Amino acid sequence: MKAPDLPSRRHATPDGRPSAAATRPPPSAYPFEGVPDTGAVREVRPGVSWIRMPLPFGLDHINCYAIDDGDGWAIVDTGVQTAETATAWRALLDGPLGGRPVTRVFATHMHPDHVGMAGWLTRKFECRLWMTRLEYLTCRVLVNDTGREAPEDGVKFYRRAGWDEAAIEQYRARFGGFGKAIYRLPDSYRRIEHGERLRIGAHEWTVVVGSGHSPEHACLHCPSLRLLISGDQVLPRISSNVSVFPTEPDADPLGDWIDSLARLERSLPDDVLVLPSHNEPFNGLHARLRSLADGHLRGLERLRRSLAEPKRVIDLFGALFARDARNDAHLLSLATGECIAHLNYLKARGEVKVQTDASGVAWYRMTTAGPDDDTSAG
Ligand SMILES: [Zn+2]
Repeated sequence: MKAPDLPSRRHATPDGRPSAAATRPPPSAYPFEGVPDTGAVREVRPGVSWIRMPLPFGLDHINCYAIDDGDGWAIVDTGVQTAETATAWRALLDGPLGGRPVTRVFATHMHPDHVGMAGWLTRKFECRLWMTRLEYLTCRVLVNDTGREAPEDGVKFYRRAGWDEAAIEQYRARFGGFGKAIYRLPDSYRRIEHGERLRIGAHEWTVVVGSGHSPEHACLHCPSLRLLISGDQVLPRISSNVSVFPTEPDADPLGDWIDSLARLERSLPDDVLVLPSHNEPFNGLHARLRSLADGHLRGLERLRRSLAEPKRVIDLFGALFARDARNDAHLLSLATGECIAHLNYLKARGEVKVQTDASGVAWYRMTTAGPDDDTSAG
């Protein structure tokens, strides 16, 4: 589950950090030169077009896709709610998309850069939002946090990670940003599920679900076109944020993520062109899936070495991240969530123990690191 504060969380660069730890696909893996301009399309297969929407973040774009659906276009992912995105959609719909209607809108997952304009498009064309149930329902819950004060559970969660009062104040001030980035969500939707086969226009697509970056993330696989719309489940140049949030402090999203990457490799052929939500379409799915998992496994190994002595979450960023996250509220939040995801992974497997001190701060160390004389283990 995602915490409600979008800009200070995973989406700082809305979707991740440069994947220095993982091997990126070589230049030859990218079949297209350049990227489509805002308001333009690039056809990647007959009837399937690549669209780029601007994002007001460090990561400055999201890829959306339009699939010929017979009577109009099925749209996959929509951009974040801004005037600029609406202008870009109008230019596309009246221009390169030929004035044909949108028949339905798919959202791969609930993050605002993906679902942000779904309500705008579905109302404009009186069509349905297609989404997995956990993504839709979780999104509705998080949107409701906008306008609320930061919860005490959230304050405790970040204090426990070692945040100082200035950082906690930033958290309070930024809380609720998630809903602001999303146009009023449709009040009803069409559920899609893992393994479901859907006909979109002339082709059959299969829903393939992953978890860890978001709770029930949908990818769309078209065997006959050899395409995989991968959302944020597989990105070529950055590694998707995998974080623990205050709503579920004991979650193990990294376990889910690593399992999902392995399952995708088992269930999808390697010879698909991957259409990701960020960066560019690429070939080499299986190698990328493996290198993303390996990047996390190497991070876990560095953490193990750092945990011979008790450490707080904020003491461990150096083991996982190249950039110092401690002086940037937005990066601090991302780094904290991702660091706890790695710690919870080790804790769930009995490798790490946690003790909470008198001021509510958690100290982690390897279970093999020596005798434990403190009974206040959390
Ligand atoms: Zn995402």
